[in-house]
Amino acid sequence: MKRIIKAKKSGKRYGFIYTLECNECHKDFQISGYRFNDGVGKFCSFSCRTRYRMKRLTGNKSYNWRGGRIKTSYGYVRVYAPNHPHNRFGYVLEHRLIIEKKIGRYLKPTEVVHHKNEITGDNRIENLELLDYIAHNRNHGFQKHIPRNPITGRFIKF
Ligand SMILES: [Zn+2]
Ligand SMILES: [Zn+2]
Repeated sequence: MKRIIKAKKSGKRYGFIYTLECNECHKDFQISGYRFNDGVGKFCSFSCRTRYRMKRLTGNKSYNWRGGRIKTSYGYVRVYAPNHPHNRFGYVLEHRLIIEKKIGRYLKPTEVVHHKNEITGDNRIENLELLDYIAHNRNHGFQKHIPRNPITGRFIKF
C-alpha cells in the first residue's frame, strides 16, 4: 500500500512532494502530490513495478489479477508476463508458463506443450505434456492435427 513517509510543501506548482516507500525495493522515492493523487506511487520505477508483478505472476497465487488472464480465439489462455522472453504484446500462453515453472527454465520455441485431452484451455498440470515440435505432430497424426506455432498458438498454414 501507499505509505506516506513525509509530505512537504514544494512551493508553486504541485503543492506537495510526497516521500514514499517503494513496494518492491523498499527504497524511499519522491513524487509530486499531483501524480500521487493520480494513483501513482506504489513503486519508485517502472522496473520495480514490473518485477513486483512478475513475482505475483510466478508465485503460488492464481493469475487472476487485473484481468491478467485472457482467453484467445483458439481456446488458449494467455497471462500477462511482460518480462517473459517470448511474450507477445506482454502476454504468454499459460500452459507454457505452467510447464516452465515445473521444469525451471524457459521453453525453446521448438518445444510444444501438448494438451492430453485436446482441450486447449485445460491447463491442469496433469493435462500438459512437454514434447518437441516433431514428436508433437507425430503424436497427433498429421491429418488429425494441423500443427500450430508453439509460441503464438496459431495454426501453421502450408
Ligand atoms: Zn523500487
Ligand atoms: Zn497437442
